[in-house]
Amino acid sequence: MDYLPIFLDLKGKQCLVVGGGEVAYRKVGLLLKSGAQVSVVSPELCPPLAALADIKYVAERFQATHLTNMTLVIAATDETATNEEISRQAKIRNIPVNVVDNPALCTFIMPAILDRSPLMVTFSTGGAAPVLARMMRAKLESLIPHGYGKLAAFSSKFRQAIKTQISNPDKRRIFWEDVLEGPIAEKIFAGDEKSAEAMLLNMLHGGEQNAVGEVYLVGAGPGDPDLLTFRALRLMQKADVILYDNLVSKPVLEMTRRDAERIFVGKSRGEHTMPQESINDLLVRLAKAGKRVLRLKGGDPFIFGRGGEEIETLAQHKISFQVVPGITAASGVAAYAGIPLTHRDHAQSCVFVTGHLQDGGIDLDWEMLARPRQTIVVYMGLTGLEMLCAKLVQHGLPASTPAAIVQQGTTQNQRVVCGTLATLPEKTAAEKLHAPTLIIVGGVVSLREKLSWFTPERASSKLNGQ
Ligand code: SAH
Repeated sequence: MDYLPIFLDLKGKQCLVVGGGEVAYRKVGLLLKSGAQVSVVSPELCPPLAALADIKYVAERFQATHLTNMTLVIAATDETATNEEISRQAKIRNIPVNVVDNPALCTFIMPAILDRSPLMVTFSTGGAAPVLARMMRAKLESLIPHGYGKLAAFSSKFRQAIKTQISNPDKRRIFWEDVLEGPIAEKIFAGDEKSAEAMLLNMLHGGEQNAVGEVYLVGAGPGDPDLLTFRALRLMQKADVILYDNLVSKPVLEMTRRDAERIFVGKSRGEHTMPQESINDLLVRLAKAGKRVLRLKGGDPFIFGRGGEEIETLAQHKISFQVVPGITAASGVAAYAGIPLTHRDHAQSCVFVTGHLQDGGIDLDWEMLARPRQTIVVYMGLTGLEMLCAKLVQHGLPASTPAAIVQQGTTQNQRVVCGTLATLPEKTAAEKLHAPTLIIVGGVVSLREKLSWFTPERASSKLNGQ
């Protein structure tokens, strides 16, 4: 170990930064964040530094007298000789000194910081490869939720009370593990500190511990696992049981916890979908058995996903749940197909509708849909496509309005068929598309030619030498 990592308490302490550029500005920002009183010595300041109200500015070149009463000094000038002089003078006075990008002149070095205050994670390569330290930080950034800071602050509020109540250190450790890994922590991450507090007090005063599980209603996005949110992924790897249906892609499902029980609740060939009521009941039953249940839904749970009904049942049974939004098919599929949903020249509004056929018809507000300068995204519209196009023309949209249908958007099997309201049904029938498919109608579809260069389709056709 070349350096001893420590955390300095600089609150109210005088610290000096020599230099007036962008680098100095960043160092000043860090020192201010930790509560230091910062003096900046430099003949000139860059505009962001000059705009800081909380610093003492000394418009001079560095002199040794500037070090009087300093607890710490950072040299961030671009003059080697000045940096060397600062280092030398600070060392004579035993003041910790950091010279930016020059470990040889430093008595301390600065790590890359992942700040979830009061939780702090720092990374250092001992000055050998600062970029590597920053890369490691970026990797961990995605694994440590922002809520961990809140969780640490929450814990500190109860630390003393829990110490008094549970005197046995082993029992106390187990108690804390349950708090920090269980439903209480999830409540904090979801921003519900009030419930977290009630649950913790209940647990502390002998209430039933974790007797009831919880449900995560998670949006899995349209298919490409890269489109999952950090929170979705974390809960996917935490759940004991997973309920999923046809819309959840295989690569997404593969990212769930390996040893979790997986229950398919969708439609398989020749069979019927599990009725919604049975899914609701199953969620309740599993949660009551103490399980952490993941209800994984394609896209976003609240967009044509019946998520509302599922949580209604959970609420009735007083089961703790949280909803994690996902990228809905409209935004994911459109982006991967190179079709912007709104565009200054083509569409100022965008509506999402379901084209589900009921009793042989589609029940939609056709007047509202057939407005100009609007993009229409139709979910579940494949079987009703012909009727949809006809109705839109009948209610005033030109038959030449561009329209596209996208099969299994964002996945390796994505296929896009483009046409107009007049031609799309026939073209689609000829292509024999597989569900799920999404229909997009409006002028924006005409932009696809220009904007779709980097879509997976093009990428793979380029790879195939086409
Ligand atoms: N909650 C989901 C939608 C559920 S309804 C969401 O927010 O995306 C199911 C419909 O979504 C399908 O019939 C299809 O129209 C659409 N859909 C979902 N994923 C899709 C995909 N990868 N490609 C094309 N359409 C998709």
